[in-house]
Amino acid sequence: MDILEQIRNEIEVCWVNPELGRYREVREGLRFSEADVDEAAERLARFAPLIVRLFPETSSSEGVIESPLVRVPALKSALEAQYGAMPAGEALLKCDSHLAIAGSVKARGGIYEVLKHTEDIAIAEGLIGSDYSVPGGDYSVLADHKDLFAGYTMQVGSTGNLGMSIGIMSAALGYRAVVHMSADAKEWKKALLRSHGVDVREYDSDYSVAVAEGRRLSDEDPRSYFVDDEKSKDLFLGYAVAGRRLHAQLDEMGIVVDEKHPLVVYLPCGVGGAPGGITFGLKNEFGDNVHCFFVEPVASPCMLIGLASGLDDGVDVFDYGLSGLTQADGLAVGRASGLVCEMMRHTLAGEMTVADYKLFRHMVSLHDSEGIIIEPSACAAIEGYMAMADECRGARYMERFEGTSPTHIMWATGGSLMPEEIVKEYLHNGRR
Ligand SMILES: *Cc1c(COP(=O)(O)O)cnc(C)c1O
Repeated sequence: MDILEQIRNEIEVCWVNPELGRYREVREGLRFSEADVDEAAERLARFAPLIVRLFPETSSSEGVIESPLVRVPALKSALEAQYGAMPAGEALLKCDSHLAIAGSVKARGGIYEVLKHTEDIAIAEGLIGSDYSVPGGDYSVLADHKDLFAGYTMQVGSTGNLGMSIGIMSAALGYRAVVHMSADAKEWKKALLRSHGVDVREYDSDYSVAVAEGRRLSDEDPRSYFVDDEKSKDLFLGYAVAGRRLHAQLDEMGIVVDEKHPLVVYLPCGVGGAPGGITFGLKNEFGDNVHCFFVEPVASPCMLIGLASGLDDGVDVFDYGLSGLTQADGLAVGRASGLVCEMMRHTLAGEMTVADYKLFRHMVSLHDSEGIIIEPSACAAIEGYMAMADECRGARYMERFEGTSPTHIMWATGGSLMPEEIVKEYLHNGRR
């Protein structure tokens, strides 16, 4: 059965990108450059004093929102005991599930975009200079101008976590915030946002509709800004900053990445912005020595369909007879970002898909072995790692690592804001 036929039948697959190129050659043709990532990193540094002031829990990291990278040997052993051999090499977990403020990977791109727009407004309003100078101070003074920001609106369409990141950050700065939530969004995420004073609009339809409606309403209002998950350069670059941060963390842990020590990274994918931006950031750091795989639910593999068919955002999961329905709310996207498809065409190593029931099982395995809680969407990363040992999926790709010592990173994209009773319910599901 060819891969598109397997996708139609909701069979778990591993797709290896036939168009993966040598990064040295590929990077020249890309729409963004490393200089764009530098600029994003510098902007985040300018805002660090403001972040500390608004979110004192970030003071220990001096306003840098970054997550731990941890070794997970007990998870590897637990998976081995349950399912058989795991891929050769060490296993690490990147805990974006525990990023400050938003509790998900969206604390990277989402917060970055709100800050970027805030800087634009602050310059236009004369609060800071066009050279980013602040007379006698730093960006923390922006926290004194909530009344001014209250005259502006931030809007976003979301399946949940992007809305939480944009909503919480916007509300903290004083903006009016409107989040357009698709049908997949979890009740607790809507409730949490409302508790921050965010205007949550609910839609009975899928993510694209929530985005389109948010975009339309925002366009009608000159003082409203729309964070466009499908098209945003700023979101993408905010995510990309993760690459150099991860590089520094690996150095600190004494983990080398080179030809003899390849890095294999598993990233849960929705519309593509978060895993795409991170992949771009990692490729800039490690070139051909990093191999990035996206992982999507079998019912909603929009990026896989876009890339494997070559149609990018010209096709959606419904065209393939798929429902788009998944418990992995962070990944419940029917149509991929065209921008990200373009950026990944020659940089992504491949993709895996995962059946929903496994996400809950993996959540239990991680919790019982390492005591770490992440949300079901994020557990897709664990399946990506496991698929690399599967004869029918990633094992063929692993052959190229023979004679090397690979390091595997499962990118845990969210979860620390989940209420306790929701965690209990998910773990119960997973144990059944
Ligand atoms: C948003 C999200 C992703 C994927 O990010 P996209 O930019 O939509 O591809 C993965 N995991 C979680 C938990 C998310 O919230």
